[in-house]
Amino acid sequence: MPDTPVPQSPALARVAKGDLCAGCGACAALAPGKVTMNVAAPGYLRPVQSAPLAAEQEAAIAAVCPGLTQSVAPQGRKDPVLWGPYVEMMTGHATDDAVRFAGASGGGLSAVLVHLIESGTVDAVVQTTASTDLPIGNMAVITMDRAAITAAAGSRYAPSAPLEGIMAQVAAHRENGKTYAFVGKPCDAVAMRSLCNRDPDVAATFPVILSFFCAGVPSHTGGKEVLAKLGTTLEETAKFRFRGNGWPGQATATAHDGSERSMSYHDSWGGVLSRHVQMRCKLCADGTGVAADIVCADAWESDVAGYPVFEEAPGISLIVTRTDLGAQLINAAKEAGHLTTEPFNVEDLTAIQPGQRERRRALMARLAGRRIVGKPTPRYEGLQLFAAARQNPILRNAKNFLGTLRRSLR
Ligand SMILES: Cc1cc2nc3c(=O)[nH]c(=O)nc-3n(C[C@H](O)[C@H](O)[C@H](O)COP(=O)(O)OP(=O)(O)OC[C@H]3O[C@@H](n4cnc5c(N)ncnc54)[C@H](O)[C@@H]3O)c2cc1C
Ligand code: SF4
Ligand code: SF4
Repeated sequence: MPDTPVPQSPALARVAKGDLCAGCGACAALAPGKVTMNVAAPGYLRPVQSAPLAAEQEAAIAAVCPGLTQSVAPQGRKDPVLWGPYVEMMTGHATDDAVRFAGASGGGLSAVLVHLIESGTVDAVVQTTASTDLPIGNMAVITMDRAAITAAAGSRYAPSAPLEGIMAQVAAHRENGKTYAFVGKPCDAVAMRSLCNRDPDVAATFPVILSFFCAGVPSHTGGKEVLAKLGTTLEETAKFRFRGNGWPGQATATAHDGSERSMSYHDSWGGVLSRHVQMRCKLCADGTGVAADIVCADAWESDVAGYPVFEEAPGISLIVTRTDLGAQLINAAKEAGHLTTEPFNVEDLTAIQPGQRERRRALMARLAGRRIVGKPTPRYEGLQLFAAARQNPILRNAKNFLGTLRRSLR
């Protein structure tokens, strides 16, 4: 007898139709046993539905999925057009040299995590590290001490679905009261914040949300292409680091015999990985973590033309506190000696984050180019897309619109 087709979730169908999935895993958390995250060609994490969803699961996914929706309100905070609501912005780095070295930039996020654990603010952290099965892939990990946090530091330019398993921590919290900090991409933070707003148990389990600036998630095909450029293969690779161990640090493949091959950040991200990012990332209105309490990014130096330079240097993180809680935690981490900071002028951010700047300015035209041919797009509220588009000349907006329209029709 042929299998009866599973009635598809309208929310997940809309995401699939628009290729809007960010791969966060929230839908799998909301529909356990019915939705799972699988690797789909060309190597992104995507939900697979195997059973009909209950009405409340459907409603929850439609409300939480960052492929479908994101809203933010300034609530009295400074709210610059390109960077979203924030309380304070500064630069800084971990005071522990090992954490700073391992970190993607200055180890800012890891220093805060160490503080959260060592001060007893939370019991553990849900974060992302290299997959034990796939060196160029990722897996969620629970860390509870400085050594484990340092081992998971660094940026991993590959799919991650850190929300997929979070209901296990929520269930544990109901039993034992344990709390967790959550680290994820800005879209993960959006989904986590929505879940916290909907479900007091999730909010009680995850009192702190951390994120980082994000230009996009490349597929595993991108990771394999970096290996090929390094003259090696997945089979020959035991470990892979995308960056970190210095700032920005090298993309480094370690073979089973311990030998290493490396490539600069400029060549790996700029030359390969950035060409493999998923569609949702090209339509992302928030690569800067507006839903998180604390966000870190690269506080690159800029050259005379105002563009970021990627020369190796001791790491410096840009640190953005987006909530009062985030600001309190940064002060506490400084007082406890985990973090040191310097003032930073928000006006300087436009020059050192050209990828974020240009995507935000182009977004309204891109969304219009898709909507006009009936392609689903995420619903964004409070992200000032019109004001961002006005920072571009009309001709550039027209070019972005027509380019997206042409690609959408194809
Ligand atoms: C996909 C991606 C895109 C990025 N795009 C930008 C950008 O546009 N601009 C910019 O300034 N910086 C970008 N970064 C780098 C990011 O800014 C740095 O990670 C940030 O400066 C934090 O550095 P840190 O030293 O404070 O963090 P660390 O102390 O190194 O901590 C990094 C944290 O991020 C977590 N993490 C790493 N990779 C992932 C992942 N794939 N999914 C979920 N969690 C992860 C780790 O578990 C760790 O907790 C990107 C990173 C990634 C992974
Ligand atoms: S973006 Fe997240 S919640 Fe939405 S479909 Fe993809 S994995 Fe599921
Ligand atoms: S660019 Fe946006 S959608 Fe893509 S992974 Fe980063 S935060 Fe998520």
